[in-house]
Amino acid sequence: MEMTGLQIFKYLPGAKKEPQANCKECGCPTCMAFALKLAKQNIELSKCPYATAELNEKYLHSIKHPQKTIEIKGLKIGGENVLYRHEKTFINRTILAVLVDCDKLDYQNILNRINEFEIKGVNEIFHVDLVILQNYQKNKSIICNVPTITLEEFETYDLIKIFNKDFHKTKEQLITTRKKAILEKDDNYSNPVCVFMGEKLDLYNTCAQASYYICKYANMLVFEQFDEAMFSTLITLRQNIYTDPQKPLQVESNLYEFNNPDKNSIVFLTTNFALTFFAVANELESLNIPSYLIVIPAEGMSVLTAWSAEKFTAQIVANTLKKLDIKNRINTRTIIIPGLLAHMTEELNEASPDFNFIVGTHEASAIKDFVKKLQL
Ligand code: SF4
Repeated sequence: MEMTGLQIFKYLPGAKKEPQANCKECGCPTCMAFALKLAKQNIELSKCPYATAELNEKYLHSIKHPQKTIEIKGLKIGGENVLYRHEKTFINRTILAVLVDCDKLDYQNILNRINEFEIKGVNEIFHVDLVILQNYQKNKSIICNVPTITLEEFETYDLIKIFNKDFHKTKEQLITTRKKAILEKDDNYSNPVCVFMGEKLDLYNTCAQASYYICKYANMLVFEQFDEAMFSTLITLRQNIYTDPQKPLQVESNLYEFNNPDKNSIVFLTTNFALTFFAVANELESLNIPSYLIVIPAEGMSVLTAWSAEKFTAQIVANTLKKLDIKNRINTRTIIIPGLLAHMTEELNEASPDFNFIVGTHEASAIKDFVKKLQL
């Protein structure tokens, strides 16, 4: 754990009431100010000539990064500094790699399946992260769209490798390694950990065990079999764990189209919070009429939260309409806003006089009935 300002202060002359207390030689008005700055790593410890060797040792240990980051083919592996995501966040998601044996007759078929595999996420398309080529020879033709590395080259990286022969042993090794790295900052355990899943397990067991290892605490998993359903499952799980809980999922601010709209189609408006967007988008998609959805950039906040945080103001809406060139792209001038923002109607109309804002529904699920009534 990093030292707090108060913990640092205890070792300084100010706390010990020594003659040099608050001498300002470090450029700070007091020892406490220096301690607070140092805790944020905004000043060097060496600026205080009276810092003790004990403080130096403790401070250097406290700022040491517990797990190293290793980069392979542009993929960052490791670099974690907490045991649990809720303490801060996890940094680099578990890399999911496939080991492909080029001596096997069907190796290119497997690579073709890997090439075709993709899952569409909110703002990202996921693929297999890495292919490790075993028994690769330069004269062999390889068609692979994802990053590849030969097994020989892969083995040169300083990863802690675990061969998954027994689930309980692997689990214990992973937990011990991560705890030693994070809690004790023990250099012997600071390299990222890679688990080779082995080929003996059936698919269900491989998937179940890999799921556990993604949660605790593999930085990389290498599979000797490739299965689309298993990778879909694991990527989805990984996404749940490695998404930063401090950053709300958001979609791009844009004009979205549903059911082939023309210039006179109905227009809705909402924020860029992913859950809100998909709730509204699903309803609009299932309507049998063409429509548009204007998405306002609101730092991924839901409608009311964005309004109360002033991330959804009449001016932001006006700027977005201009930026997206809505006036020229469509003829419709009526824009349906979320029911929760009914109180904003007047200011929206004032800020964007070319449009007429009307109040829609509180819940996305009521859009269908709302549109029916609108058409009567
Ligand atoms: Fe305190 Fe050291 Fe700064 Fe003097 S130089 S004010 S003793 S922290």
